[in-house]
Amino acid sequence: MKGNFNLASAEPELQGVALLDLKRQYDVLKDEIAESLKKVCDSGAFVLGPEVKTFENNIANYSQVEYAIACASGSDALLLALMAAEVGPGDEVLVPSFTFFATASAVTRLGAKPVFIDIEPQSFNMSATDAAQRITARTKAMVPVHLFGQMAEMVELNRLAQQHGITVIEDAAQSIGAELEGRRAGSWGDMGAFSFYPTKNLGGAGDGGLVTTRDGEFAQRLKLLHVHGMEPRYYHRVIGINSRLDSFQAAILNVKIKYLEGWTMMRVQNARRYNEMFLDAGLENTIGIPQPLPNRRHVWNQYTIRVLDGQRDDLRKNLAERKIGAEIYYPFGLHEQECFQYLGYNAESLPETYRASREVLSLPIFPELTENEQRLVVHNIKSFFEINAARHVFPATTVTPIRKRDAA
Ligand SMILES: *Cc1c(COP(=O)(O)O)cnc(C)c1O
Repeated sequence: MKGNFNLASAEPELQGVALLDLKRQYDVLKDEIAESLKKVCDSGAFVLGPEVKTFENNIANYSQVEYAIACASGSDALLLALMAAEVGPGDEVLVPSFTFFATASAVTRLGAKPVFIDIEPQSFNMSATDAAQRITARTKAMVPVHLFGQMAEMVELNRLAQQHGITVIEDAAQSIGAELEGRRAGSWGDMGAFSFYPTKNLGGAGDGGLVTTRDGEFAQRLKLLHVHGMEPRYYHRVIGINSRLDSFQAAILNVKIKYLEGWTMMRVQNARRYNEMFLDAGLENTIGIPQPLPNRRHVWNQYTIRVLDGQRDDLRKNLAERKIGAEIYYPFGLHEQECFQYLGYNAESLPETYRASREVLSLPIFPELTENEQRLVVHNIKSFFEINAARHVFPATTVTPIRKRDAA
């Protein structure tokens, strides 16, 4: 393996590497997208309509479920799924603390209480062991998140849910096309929530979301709930919300879904190449390299390393100076957020979440990322650690080591 990648020859003319460059995708699809948008304008059907129907069918097929109900965002998809599960005041809902805010805020919006669960260190996903310990008589639902593109422990979590009569809602916002034992995200729980925000693996040109289910009753309820509970027109059977996908988003997403498998394979290839490059650079003991769990298809919405010994923020700053995009998802567990202090969690009471939030760093992984760009990313990480190691040998210096090295 050694010597596969000549890091030193990382393209000198590269000016940096973007964390995500959506323009490369758009440049290829420009004409196809323009044409699909024109069709929507000509049709005059701007909200829901045939493009949305087609999109729902496309996602149902892709995600191996019977029903798909499109809505306005991933956040709304979570809210609608919890509404369909009749979550309300007095109920508790298990959610991981290490996730995007929407996973928990959907619970509080319905007057229910989020119960934060710690994660498994290797996958960053909700721990079934910890979840089991926090179930009470009030636990009504759980929302495991398939974080960064890898499926949570759905076998164990489904078993737990079955034992206790809990509804399972997958937060699949980052994981369209991810698989566990050959079955896709969104097909494991009672419902699955998806987002088509532009940074997701299947992203529109604005907000969009969708709920999947294999259960006809949930499907029926979701169809009502997202149009103000109205059926037929002006007859309101239940109190729903207004959360519809517009036809422009659906049209764009119908174009893009044809390319999703190809893009996913490119993400997988990029992840594999990073792993090889980091081994090649001898960094395997310096940083934590992501290792997907067995029986899974990881779709790499994020490629997330761990940086130990409190060096994460320095590394990120150093990369930023070299115009290399790197982001922290997420700098705090939700249990640490000000708005959730009323729940009374101690920051370190979820130790794996606490540690992960201080160590994680996500690197560019988008499909069109080139090998040379990856080489530049790895090259810069390698030199950061070489310089830091040098600093440990000569602690007397007060000059920031990076400048010192550059000047030499
Ligand atoms: C993006 C995301 C959401 C919310 O989706 P929006 O479409 O932005 O509302 C929810 N959960 C997770 C894990 C996400 O990454």
